[in-house]
Amino acid sequence: MISTEGLILKEQSVGENDKLVTILTASHGIIRCFCKRAKKLISKTSSACQAMTYSRLEIYEGREKYIINEAETIKSFFDAFSDLESLSLGYYLCEIAMKTIPENMPSDEYLQLLLNCLYAISIKKKPLAQIKAVFELRTMLLNGVVPNILFCNECGTYESDNGIMYFDYANNCIYCAKCCSKNLLAPHCLAVSMGCITATRYCITAEPKRILSFDLLPSSMADLEKFSESFFLSQNDMHYSTLDFYKNIKQLN
Ligand SMILES: [Zn+2]
Repeated sequence: MISTEGLILKEQSVGENDKLVTILTASHGIIRCFCKRAKKLISKTSSACQAMTYSRLEIYEGREKYIINEAETIKSFFDAFSDLESLSLGYYLCEIAMKTIPENMPSDEYLQLLLNCLYAISIKKKPLAQIKAVFELRTMLLNGVVPNILFCNECGTYESDNGIMYFDYANNCIYCAKCCSKNLLAPHCLAVSMGCITATRYCITAEPKRILSFDLLPSSMADLEKFSESFFLSQNDMHYSTLDFYKNIKQLN
């Protein structure tokens, strides 16, 4: 029997009464478990196995599958989110976790990151765009990939005179305004404000507990959201249906 804590990332119906849940656990990383009679019983185990619920779990390890023996809710983020935009962002973060963490690999640091960000969404600690960008960048960092944005790739300058730098996705590097125009690189690059660059430098170097401790002007925030999302998607060849959903909801608001 495994005793652990975990966040339910996804639930799927199996047959008439059972559910298959994907869980990010502290001890075993991502595992898939059967929850028997979950649809029939209105029990504490059944409610603790709903998506975006952080639960204490007792899991029976069978020959070929895991089965949840007992579960108890520690925190339901699903209940804590007060609007559809927050909820859809929560689903996106969970889909990222499912697609970027290998199964059965201990991922305590990643679990803490996800819990911190879901909590920040639930109390509206920071703008959703900021939480989304930080989560994407830190996910990349935990996978050993960071945007190479410390210095201009050609002249080594730390900051452009005009306050804008140019990121080259294909080569994961950045140029100052002078080197960008001298080498006619603009069509291949995304122009980003120094505010966005400074925030990104902070995101990838901050202590885990302080990753959200920064503020940005709305224009730089829009840049950060665009930059981190493009970088994240350029680094992993996946489609995220929950990202489309989040964007649709955001447009309606
Ligand atoms: Zn330069």
